[in-house]
Amino acid sequence: MTSPPELEVRGEIIFTRDRFEKLNAVRAEAGEELYANPRNTAAGTLKLQDPKEVARRGLDNFIYGVQSEQLATRSHFAMIEQAGRWGFKTPDPTKRFIEKAESVEGIMAFIDHWDTKRHALEMATDGVVIKVDDRHIQEELGMTAKSPRWAIAYKFQAEQALTRLNAVSYQVGRTGAVTPVAELTPVQLSGTTVKRASLFNADQIARLGLHIGDTVRVEKAGEIIPQVVGVEVASRAPDAEPVIFPEHCPECVVALVRLEGEAQHYCPNDLGCPPQIARRIEHFVGRKAMDIEGLGGETIELLLKAGLIHNIADLYDMRKEQLLELGKGWGEKSAQGVIDGITASRSVPFDRVLFALGIRHVGETIAKKIARSVGSMDRLMNMAKEDLLAIDEVGEVVADSLRDFFDAPRNRAAVDRLRAAGLRLEAEAIAPAAGDQLKDLTFVVSGVFENFSRDSIKEAIESHGGKVSGSISKKTSFVLAGADMGPAKRTKADELGVPDR
Ligand SMILES: [Zn+2]
Repeated sequence: MTSPPELEVRGEIIFTRDRFEKLNAVRAEAGEELYANPRNTAAGTLKLQDPKEVARRGLDNFIYGVQSEQLATRSHFAMIEQAGRWGFKTPDPTKRFIEKAESVEGIMAFIDHWDTKRHALEMATDGVVIKVDDRHIQEELGMTAKSPRWAIAYKFQAEQALTRLNAVSYQVGRTGAVTPVAELTPVQLSGTTVKRASLFNADQIARLGLHIGDTVRVEKAGEIIPQVVGVEVASRAPDAEPVIFPEHCPECVVALVRLEGEAQHYCPNDLGCPPQIARRIEHFVGRKAMDIEGLGGETIELLLKAGLIHNIADLYDMRKEQLLELGKGWGEKSAQGVIDGITASRSVPFDRVLFALGIRHVGETIAKKIARSVGSMDRLMNMAKEDLLAIDEVGEVVADSLRDFFDAPRNRAAVDRLRAAGLRLEAEAIAPAAGDQLKDLTFVVSGVFENFSRDSIKEAIESHGGKVSGSISKKTSFVLAGADMGPAKRTKADELGVPDR
């Protein structure tokens, strides 16, 4: 079978344990922090901007699906085998990575096999996928909104391990939320060492009835995030101390509050609680917010400690000389890098500035909606709650949070300073129609132009009332032919007598 002219293959990226350990060994030698697990590292690797580094990491893949209009077989299994002959990496049937079952018993036998054998695999897996083989039946079964009805995942019982709860620590996040974390005696679980697990909130601690020194059962949800799922009460020491959620912030000693209906405790001291201040600045400079390079968590801690900054607005008053005075690790290049990053952030669009402020419940998506709908920080700051509620997808919680934020004089003062620093606090105006001189005309833009991008030409046409089409037809009024326009297009335009300007 030759391959059809057009086909789509789908597959899975994998990072073998072996490769993962090698990567960590190199990092250990260089004194760098170790990666936690292969899955997250694979995902992180795919986001890297440096193709050489990605290649060096040694990711692998295999194909689990082939789609095309012109396939010669109805069998999904046969199609995967065929993809293998075309040179794609496919799961090996002799290793039972893929298997065709004729009955439910056959499916169960496959599941049983991998339930035990998966631990010896070179990559972690949490289940198998069972599919209908006949593509005609697949089509008949169709899709739900999210997934095909002809494929279903079977998840193995998550692996559990017993270990000792040595202590509970409390982390204070950007919004003041206090999260309890179980400090455990390190234990091996699904191929990684687990020594900490989130306990989420006070309710979870109460539900588990945790005592210090307890033997606890930990499990990895989806083989990724470790969780404490149970306690071996029988083996508890008689004098064990129960875990009691603190009444005061572990960082600044201010009394914690718990809002009605919320599971989380908060430290209300947002101005004076050191981790909250640091996390807020980290959020502000983050990639999806102001995207200021060279300012990681440690650098921010350092700048805070040195008194160079106390809040986000202070970043814009920082001078290179001040950074150079910090001494160790700060050379001309790194200092200039940070200053350049801060300068560049002045052109970050309004919706991201709004997200960067870190207003509770105002995430990336909702910030975009608000920015588009309201248009400017000035208007937003002064909008009444009922007007805020009229914005698409803004409900009570977000409206209250916005009002709380902008009612605080210090937040208004911070916004004023950001404005003075030249940040963009207005949404970009959508260009109004410039005229209708090109009404009823259809253009095809093709090839490369010296002075304009194709997109800017298309925009100009549309803003003057013209239409842009991708292909030449009888309806085409004009072809804008740049360099390298395909000869077929030119022939067609000539045939149809389309003027060529
Ligand atoms: Zn605090």
